[in-house]
Amino acid sequence: MRPMEQIDAVVIGAGVVGLAVGRALALSGREVVVLESENAIGTGTSSRNSEVIHAGIYYPAGSLKARLCVQGKDMLYAYCAERGVAHQRLGKLIVATSPDQVQALDGIVAKAAANGVHDLQKLTAAQARALEPALSCEAALLSPSTGVVDSHGLMLALQGDMENAGCLLALVSPVQRIAVRQGTATHPIVVQTQDGTELACKVLVNAAGLNAVALARGMDGLDHSLLPQAHYAKGNYFTLAGKAPFSRLIYPVPEAAGLGVHLTLDLGGQAKFGPDVQWVDDRADLQVDPRRGDAFYAEVRKYWPDLADGALQAGYAGMRPKISGPQEASADFLIQGPAEHGVPGLVHLLGIESPGLTSSLAIAAHVARLL
Ligand SMILES: Cc1cc2nc3c(=O)[nH]c(=O)nc-3n(C[C@H](O)[C@H](O)[C@H](O)COP(=O)(O)OP(=O)(O)OC[C@H]3O[C@@H](n4cnc5c(N)ncnc54)[C@H](O)[C@@H]3O)c2cc1C
Repeated sequence: MRPMEQIDAVVIGAGVVGLAVGRALALSGREVVVLESENAIGTGTSSRNSEVIHAGIYYPAGSLKARLCVQGKDMLYAYCAERGVAHQRLGKLIVATSPDQVQALDGIVAKAAANGVHDLQKLTAAQARALEPALSCEAALLSPSTGVVDSHGLMLALQGDMENAGCLLALVSPVQRIAVRQGTATHPIVVQTQDGTELACKVLVNAAGLNAVALARGMDGLDHSLLPQAHYAKGNYFTLAGKAPFSRLIYPVPEAAGLGVHLTLDLGGQAKFGPDVQWVDDRADLQVDPRRGDAFYAEVRKYWPDLADGALQAGYAGMRPKISGPQEASADFLIQGPAEHGVPGLVHLLGIESPGLTSSLAIAAHVARLL
């Protein structure tokens, strides 16, 4: 029998989070391999999002989402500047479009302050229109630290760093099973890929995105009652034909679930609206049904009355790796380390939905600390 290969650390998944974790572990001196099932990095949720660097405004105070977003935002701006990753601190306006929403803006300022975000500026309708003449609103908040980033450029930079630090990236290497060996093995965690290859390691980080819960559930010797149920919420985008008359991101005051139909811009200035929230059973279902766009017009016209009929075109969709269901409050990131499940060296990253891109470097630093 072939002796089993041994390595210090394995990361499952080469999305933005797995790459950031691989980089952090390699820079801390560990011997690391990142296993990715696809034939390229970042083909999952990391390439199907809004590419927004979130300020950290809405998340419950003290939550991982709040803490890691605020830390991650600063780390990401610094990293992009240092590594030449394209990004722009465009700023965002949160717009109240009815008198009763104007009061809600104060609540947003307070929530942001509790998260350590102190740069929001309250604007009158006239001040907001001075910045964005096409906008219709009663009042607004300006978040100057919100921006956009080239997510693929970011992932390439992370990959470059981790490979320079000696980390190996193995593409087309889907992990099928994880097992923990009892006894005194120096490398107690065994990872098996689809072709039967087995790798024994001391440290395993499960950053498999939409597949992370299923991989954790497939593990022997782990208390499954600690694991959440996986749910999938598709986010559909509609792009604007032609140039948008806005130079900042525009978000309505959030009502009920989700952030409302908002406008984001990419680095080329192309505008898109969304993502909406569509709960689905099939996580591979990424088709955009053009009829969903009908509901966008009325929502967008609340803050941009001049949106022309027929101006929205079905764009792309991304899938949120949810660990709370449609009727539940949105769950926090769930980062389960040895303190939670009792297996030394093992970290599961579950429910890493938005703001996972913004938080990626902070998540990686957090994981490195846990290990
Ligand atoms: C619609 C939408 C909009 C969003 N907008 C934003 C935003 O504007 N700003 C922000 O901060 N965040 C945003 N997010 C969140 C952000 O995109 C994610 O949090 C982030 O991309 C998650 O990265 P990841 O590496 O955990 O997952 P992924 O990118 O999904 O990577 C997981 C990787 O694991 C691989 N994998 C899966 N199973 C296996 C296996 N068995 N073996 C080996 N490899 C495996 C996959 O192929 C994949 O490459 C958004 C998310 C969605 C859905």
